[in-house]
Amino acid sequence: MLQILKSGRFNEASEDMLNLAAKILSYNTLFVAVHDQLTNDIIQVTNRDETIITVGQLPFIDTYCRHVTATEEVLVIDDTSEHPLTRALSVTQTLGPTAFIGCPITLSNGERIGTVCALNRLPFSFNDEDAEVIKSVAHFLSQVAEFEFSVYTERTMGVFRRPYLERIFTRWVETGPGPISVLVIHMGSGQLVRGLRGLSLTDEFFIEATKRLQGVLPKSAVLARTNDTEFTVLIPTGTEKAVKTAEEIVATFRSPVQFSPYPVILRPYVGIASVPESAHNFRDLLGRAAAAAYLGLRELKGAVTLHRPEEKKSAGRILKIAQRLSKALENQEFCLHFQPKFAIDDRRSLVSAEALLRWPQPDGTWISPAEFIPVAETTGFIIPLGRWVLEEACRQNAAWQRMGYRPLLISVNISPRQFESVDMADMLQEILENTQLDPKWLSIEITEGLLIRNSDMVADTLNRIREMGVTIAIDDFGKGFSSLAYLARFEPQVVKIDQEYVASMLQNPKYFTIVAAAINLAHNLGMRVVAEGVETEAQWAALEGLHCDAVQGYLMARPLPAENMQEQFLVKRAPLSLNVR
Ligand code: C2E
Ligand code: MG
Ligand code: MG
Repeated sequence: MLQILKSGRFNEASEDMLNLAAKILSYNTLFVAVHDQLTNDIIQVTNRDETIITVGQLPFIDTYCRHVTATEEVLVIDDTSEHPLTRALSVTQTLGPTAFIGCPITLSNGERIGTVCALNRLPFSFNDEDAEVIKSVAHFLSQVAEFEFSVYTERTMGVFRRPYLERIFTRWVETGPGPISVLVIHMGSGQLVRGLRGLSLTDEFFIEATKRLQGVLPKSAVLARTNDTEFTVLIPTGTEKAVKTAEEIVATFRSPVQFSPYPVILRPYVGIASVPESAHNFRDLLGRAAAAAYLGLRELKGAVTLHRPEEKKSAGRILKIAQRLSKALENQEFCLHFQPKFAIDDRRSLVSAEALLRWPQPDGTWISPAEFIPVAETTGFIIPLGRWVLEEACRQNAAWQRMGYRPLLISVNISPRQFESVDMADMLQEILENTQLDPKWLSIEITEGLLIRNSDMVADTLNRIREMGVTIAIDDFGKGFSSLAYLARFEPQVVKIDQEYVASMLQNPKYFTIVAAAINLAHNLGMRVVAEGVETEAQWAALEGLHCDAVQGYLMARPLPAENMQEQFLVKRAPLSLNVR
């Protein structure tokens, strides 16, 4: 905090105020000092007649200022060599006997951050008018400090904000040619916490994160919180040392944060950019480090990612998406489309529909979910977004039933990050209750990536979901590791063959064999099979020959807005017979 007072408006204001006070007071020396528990730092001095004091630091314990900050208002000492508080101090030996007056600079929360003081050679004594002048200077400076802190720091957390980083960066560039690195530390789970449990807890959560970070950062580092879920660190070192620091940061978060009542494991992703390799100005440097952090997660490059100049373009787009995503839910920019799935032996027999997320853009284009879902996973935004998709799909499905349409199974995609970050079974239960939808009309599509981790937590949650009556489908089967063992362990009711296999099965006999084997295997385990991405009659016929159960693809229908789905594919229930005898 001393840094802020020493290098900004507070320092300039101190100089101005001393010049003003100098016109009114009799004095030999007039000065402003700021302090922490260890150091007293004299930041502005005016001397008259002789130089008694100069700008510089002294141990706090050995100063008059320490006694001033322990005083409620103004401390007046007529002779420092006689007074019990000052006579034994070594400064008194150095300065010789003087008359002294000092007033603490006190913030509105009672914190003492510095002092305004004057000294005069004896014989002399400071009077009430002098005390009033010193008091008003101290009062004015406390207001300047208050303002500076509000601009540059998060008061609750004792960390800086972005404008301060920028100032320090400029100072470092001005004062030396050394390398500077910036680390952007992305804490996806912060958003998770906010999404789940209300804003007020975010502070508690970040205070803990701040403590851990401060525990591993070198002394020269400047830590700032730059966003809800993001910290930024500026260090006057090159890339190599910055990488080491980043690795320590990742290591310090390996143990769970005890976040009552749940322990939460934070997985920070750190992006690093350095001057001069990555950029020359602060904005670019920060942007590139942030982009590197996103790339780290999206492309699974690991928790620490260095910015590489050639990644600039794709990183820029990812960053833009990440920024806009965080507002898009609030602004109700998303909607759902529905893609029908049909029984293979009857093209008019609708068996289910998949809810697919859509994000229309102001210019009439769409950003593909294949592009923005991974970004949302990186930022943790997938948690509130995924919840919205589930709520909206269930709400729409229940509304269709109330309107008299035949009930329809609707499937919703759940990303692995989303599944692992919340209690999915509890969340489904809550949403089904809120929307009054019978669980048998909901299916979730999960990917192999989730199952391959083979965790007890996943198995347990899937069991609870199955017991609730919700259908579990494996999406994109064949795309990942396709371990047969997990089909037996996790017992999904539906397997969806990945569209790449469907697209290639008629050209490539090996793919055909794999599709045939997968269908057989799933049937033998009592599962139904859906083929995705069916685009041609020939594919349909081949899948029918292999006894696939259902098909989904452009051949029958593209994903449609809810109104079109309703008009084109939903069927009204037969009216109840009223012929009661
Ligand atoms: P997915 O779950 O495998 O969804 C099927 C994708 O294939 C959809 O792309 C669909 O529009 C597309 N598709 C359907 N029929 C055909 C066809 O005949 N030919 C071709 N070439 N494509 C077809 P979309 O909507 O772009 O979604 C892409 C992926 O994004 C989805 O793959 C899913 O993994 C993810 N996604 C979409 N919505 C959500 C969501 O709400 N939550 C999550 N976590 N992921 C979602
Ligand atoms: Mg899907
Ligand atoms: Mg799929």
